[in-house]
Amino acid sequence: MENSLSAIGDCVQKRCVVCGEERSHIVASINKGGQIVSVQCPQCGTRSRFKKGEGLNVIARAREGAPYNWASTYRKGQTMLHPTFGLGEVTAVVDPGKIDVLFSDRIRRLVHTKV
Ligand SMILES: [Zn+2]
Repeated sequence: MENSLSAIGDCVQKRCVVCGEERSHIVASINKGGQIVSVQCPQCGTRSRFKKGEGLNVIARAREGAPYNWASTYRKGQTMLHPTFGLGEVTAVVDPGKIDVLFSDRIRRLVHTKV
């Protein structure tokens, strides 16, 4: 099975507590669910814990997370703002009508392209 979630070596935006600046950090470890556990600052080498949803918030700012709409067609990597679950990122298109979306706590399966 292909792991479509975060992987070690990926880059995420995070504020480094040592440098005091927001910059790309390298993912240093992930859990079984494919969520980022810790990241490393490439500038000073500091390893820090990655808080749930921290990266998604930054990703959403960059890609503008539009409100979830089941009539829309989503692609892998798109972000959305769900009224109940909050901010999520599409991790996989399961079939033409279903998508897997990573929210801050876990992945949920949602419908899309529903007319
Ligand atoms: Zn740093």
